[in-house]
Amino acid sequence: MKHTKIAIIGAGAVGTSIAYALILKNIGAEIMLVDINTQRCTGEILDLSDALPFSLCSSIHQGTALDAGKADIIIIAAGMRQGPDQSRTELIDANAQIISSLIRSIQPINQDAIMIMVTNPVDILTLCAQQYSGLPHKQIFGSGTFLDTQRLHGLLAQKLSVAATSIHAYVVGEHGDSQFALWSSAHVGGISLRHFPQCSQHELDLLEQQTQNKAYEIIACKGATYFGIAACVATMCQTINFDQKTVMPLSCYQEKYGIYFSLPAVLGKKGIEQILPIEFDDQEEKKLEHSVQQLRGIIKKCST
Ligand code: NAD
Repeated sequence: MKHTKIAIIGAGAVGTSIAYALILKNIGAEIMLVDINTQRCTGEILDLSDALPFSLCSSIHQGTALDAGKADIIIIAAGMRQGPDQSRTELIDANAQIISSLIRSIQPINQDAIMIMVTNPVDILTLCAQQYSGLPHKQIFGSGTFLDTQRLHGLLAQKLSVAATSIHAYVVGEHGDSQFALWSSAHVGGISLRHFPQCSQHELDLLEQQTQNKAYEIIACKGATYFGIAACVATMCQTINFDQKTVMPLSCYQEKYGIYFSLPAVLGKKGIEQILPIEFDDQEEKKLEHSVQQLRGIIKKCST
């Protein structure tokens, strides 16, 4: 196995859960945690190191921002989280400042590094981080709607009594309130989801709504979400580490629009290898346009 060094910046609930998932999935030989709260970070590392004997990962240690810039994979999970009833986009002012100073502090960045943005609003902050870091677009991307897609698969799996891994359906667009499911191309075993009797359009709309609301529901109950995103980011690192070329809906740079949002993409050891030309029906085209407008509106607001 390649001796991959993975740096996680932000040792809060999300960053430490990602570290734990990496350890238990045996991904990354060396894991580094970086946080401005160094005492908390030390405690998290001591705690996480107790899981190392059960893993093929060889070390977990604390680093500086400068050390993080030298890693093979740099994961950014630093910043404010949503409060109850707060949308992800409301975090933009606080988190854009954090990301801008953080990218400055990790320079010079390993020019072969893969950078994964997790901090919200993820699509906009990935664009900011790409501009500040100068890394090629294919090497810097966000977790995007990968988590939302897994949430949708979970709900569909229950409804259809089929394994979640056998369901091919994507949530795309903004990782936020304008995300939407691509029902026209969704299938199980080559059969369109729309042909399953349990999946009337009304039923599908309800599942899409439940998927979109799940983060709000979790935050209302326990204040934050972190296990699901940790499993997603660890799986992304596995795909990169083993050059698996898995298709995942990630927040990628969309040339046509000049911004980042999620569409199914092939992920390998060099980053995003291709964005698949998935087809949209007329209604989905309109939803995509709406999502793009939402993202552009936020970008415009934060650049004025
Ligand atoms: P948290 O408050 O538990 O942790 C955030 C950590 O960032 C803190 O430990 C803080 O000290 C650290 N930090 C702040 N500024 C820093 C800096 N400049 N350098 C280093 N560390 C810094 O929050 P959390 O629950 O871990 O959430 C982190 C982010 O992840 C939030 O923006 C949240 O919205 C986002 N998130 C994204 C997804 C997704 O699907 N993309 C899912 C869940 C959470």
